[in-house]
Amino acid sequence: MNAEAQFFQNTTEVLPSPQDLAHARSQLISTLPGPGNGLERVREHIQTDLVPAFDRHNKVANYYGFVTGGTTPASLMADHIAVDHDQSTMVHLPKDSIAVEVEDCALQMLCQLVDLEPEQWPHRIFTTGATASNILGLACGREYVLKRAAAANGYGDVSVADDGLPEAMRKAGINKIQVLTEMPHSSLRKAASVVGLGRSCVLDVGLTDAAHRFDFEALEAALSEPGTASIVSISCAEINTGFFATSGDDMQRIRQLCDQYGAWMHVDAAFGLMARVLPQCDAYSILNEGVRGMELADSITGDAHKLLNVPYDCGFFFSKHLALATEVFQNNNAAYLSVATGSETRAIPSPLNIGIENSRRFRALPVYATLTAYGRDGYRDMMDRQVKLARAIASYIESSPDYELLPKDNPIENVYIIALFRATDPKLNEDLVQRINATRTTYVSGTQWDGRPAARFAVASWQVQVERELATVKEVLENPRATTEDL
Ligand SMILES: *Cc1c(COP(=O)(O)O)cnc(C)c1O
Repeated sequence: MNAEAQFFQNTTEVLPSPQDLAHARSQLISTLPGPGNGLERVREHIQTDLVPAFDRHNKVANYYGFVTGGTTPASLMADHIAVDHDQSTMVHLPKDSIAVEVEDCALQMLCQLVDLEPEQWPHRIFTTGATASNILGLACGREYVLKRAAAANGYGDVSVADDGLPEAMRKAGINKIQVLTEMPHSSLRKAASVVGLGRSCVLDVGLTDAAHRFDFEALEAALSEPGTASIVSISCAEINTGFFATSGDDMQRIRQLCDQYGAWMHVDAAFGLMARVLPQCDAYSILNEGVRGMELADSITGDAHKLLNVPYDCGFFFSKHLALATEVFQNNNAAYLSVATGSETRAIPSPLNIGIENSRRFRALPVYATLTAYGRDGYRDMMDRQVKLARAIASYIESSPDYELLPKDNPIENVYIIALFRATDPKLNEDLVQRINATRTTYVSGTQWDGRPAARFAVASWQVQVERELATVKEVLENPRATTEDL
C-alpha cells in the first residue's frame, strides 16, 4: 500500500490558507442561474475556486483530527465506478444487477477481516456511519428487550414496530427502558433520541476512578430494577483516549448478565473494531484484550470511513438477529418492490427490509475493492503503522518537559491510535490547538480533559509512515506557532 503513497502526497499542507478560504467564499454561487453556466465553467469553478479551500485530510498523512480516515486508492477508484454506474442497492434483484451480492460479499469479508464468523451475523448491512449503526442497534435492542420482558412476564408477543413504544411497553409490563453504558460516544444519546427512548435513558455506569470501564455492581443493580428493560452499550473504544471498556472476561460477564436480565448487548466499535486486525503479540496485548469476546454481543457498530479508509459515507452494522431486524425495518405493502427469488443465488435479504433507507448508494463497492486489493495483510500492516505512530508521538510527548501525556500515568502499551495531551504551561495550553493547527503542517483536535483544555492526535490515515510523520510532529510540537493572529 505504501508504494501508492506518492499518489496522494502532492501537498504537505493540512489546511487551506485563509486567502483560499476567503477567495472561495467570495466566489460561492447562491442564486440559481436561469440559463445554466454549463459543465465546463462549473468544473473550472469547482477546481479553481472551491477545491483549494477544502481541508486536505485525504491528501496528507499528518492530519490527526477527529478520526477521519482517508481513502485508499482502491476504494477511491471503486467509488468513482459506483457513481459512474449509479447503482442503488435497495432491493436484491438477481436478474437485474450483481450489486446487492457484491454488498453481501463485502460484508462477509469485513466480518472475516475482524475475525467474526459471517454465519453468526446474518443481519449485516452498510449504513451511512456509526451514528446510523447505533440507531439500528438501539432500534433492534428496543424490540428485543420488550419481547423478552413480555415473555418473562407471561404476556403474549409484543411489537414496537407494529404497536409503537408506549403500547408495546404497556403490553410487556415495562415502564422504563434504559441504555446502560460507560463514556459513550455522543451519537449514542442522539440515537436514543431518534428511536424514541430519549437521551435521558442513557445512563453512565462507569467506575468512578476508571470511567471508561463498567462498574459491574452498578450495572447489575440497574439491570435488576423491576419493571425495567435494558440495552447494554459497550464503548469500544473511548473517543478521547482510545481506551477499551472491557476485557474478554468482562465481555463474558456482560453476556451472562444480559442473558439473565433479558438485555440486549450492543458494542459501539466504530473505530475500536479495527484493533482486531492487529497481530496477537506482546506489544499489542492490551489492545488484543480490549477487543476480545466481541463475538458474544447481539450487535456491533462499525465505521468504514474511519480506519478502513474508504470514502464518506460508510458505516456498517452486524447483528445476530435477522428475523427481528426484518420485523423492525420491513418496508411493508410495496408490491412493486417484491422480489422474485431466483434459484441462481442464495437468499440475501433485501437491504430495504433490514436497514433505515430504501434507496441507497452502492457504498459497498469501495469496501469490496479495498479489501480485495490489500487483503488481511495490507490492513494488518496499515493498522500496525498507525498504532506505532500514535505510540511514537505519545512517547515523545511523555519525554518532553513542555507537554504531558493524558490520562496521567498512562503506559504507552495502552495507546491505540489516539494520543491525548496538553502543554505544561497553562498559558500555552489555552490556545495550543490553534497554535499547532496554524502551522498548517499538522492538525490536531481540541477536547476537554479533567475540566481543562487538552489536544489529541488521532492517527487514522492509511498513508502513515512512522518516521516521516514523527519528524513533522516533533518539529511542530517543538515550535508551535507563536501567534495565532492570522487565524
Ligand atoms: C465516530 C464515532 C461515532 C459516530 O460515527 P459517524 O460515522 O460520525 O456517524 C460513533 N461512535 C464512536 C465510538 C465513534 O468513534
